[in-house]
Amino acid sequence: MGRRGVSAGRGRAAGGTAAAARAPWRAPDRARVTRIRARLAEVYGVPVAPPHGDGLAELVLTVLSQSTNDRNRDVAFLGLRDRFGAWEAVRDAPNEEVEQAIRPGGISKVKSRRIQMILEAIGDPLDLTHLADLSVEHAQRELCALPGVGRKTAACVLLFAYGRRDVPVDTHVSRVAGRLHLLREKAPFEELHDAMLALTPPGAELELHVNLLRHGRRTCEARRPRCDECALRLMCPSRRA
Ligand code: SF4
Repeated sequence: MGRRGVSAGRGRAAGGTAAAARAPWRAPDRARVTRIRARLAEVYGVPVAPPHGDGLAELVLTVLSQSTNDRNRDVAFLGLRDRFGAWEAVRDAPNEEVEQAIRPGGISKVKSRRIQMILEAIGDPLDLTHLADLSVEHAQRELCALPGVGRKTAACVLLFAYGRRDVPVDTHVSRVAGRLHLLREKAPFEELHDAMLALTPPGAELELHVNLLRHGRRTCEARRPRCDECALRLMCPSRRA
């Protein structure tokens, strides 16, 4: 997924919506979070995705997801698994072979090097299941110490693989949550993750992440938010007139 950064027009808040420039940001209270969460659930439902338990696969998948769509990410991931069969083989292969296997996912030179560096840094055994038994903070620190791994990638591993309490803030989530004033727009990445976690009710980590992401893809798009048809427009301080 692309990195953060919503274009900011002259005199406008990030996201290009005129109303946001006039409305100062205040941290949302619990009632506001509850209303937004409920409205999103009415529109998109409550996602169900039990943790799959394979943190290493999730980590590689998240690296492959950068700057591409889900389909190309999945093709690249399957290419890797089909060609090498085991993560040890990916780690030890010549870089050109790994790059070739993941080429459908784009920027394959960068991603292939990053994947191999991560696998080398993990060492033997190539396994992350111990993360499920660490505190979330400890597991975040361990993941973020790996080459090129930041809070979003760590959160994907902890939430999707192990069902731990963390929330990935990707480009869609940060944009939509910023426009809704759930998060402070343009805040540093670390702050966005800490704030997102603080406002998310325990047990709603997957739901809020997925539904904000869906809303960003379907309605609150980066360049053209479709405020006139948005289910959240009456509670959105950034809506366009
Ligand atoms: S009204 Fe909806 S589409 Fe428009 S900025 Fe707000 S959340 Fe996005």
